[in-house]
Amino acid sequence: MGASNEPTHVTAVCTRCGAVYAARRWPNGAIRRKGGASDCRCGCPNFVDLTRATDQ
Ligand SMILES: [Zn+2]
Repeated sequence: MGASNEPTHVTAVCTRCGAVYAARRWPNGAIRRKGGASDCRCGCPNFVDLTRATDQ
């Protein structure tokens, strides 16, 4: 326990069209765009954490 509930600021990429957004990654793994919209402009709700994707 003792894990932080603070979200991590990440760069999220849409899995469909590749659009990039500023987002937050929560401790449960959920990625949410900053601001009001939760979906990409293309309508896709799925994002990947670019920071993590490029971390090898
Ligand atoms: Zn998209």
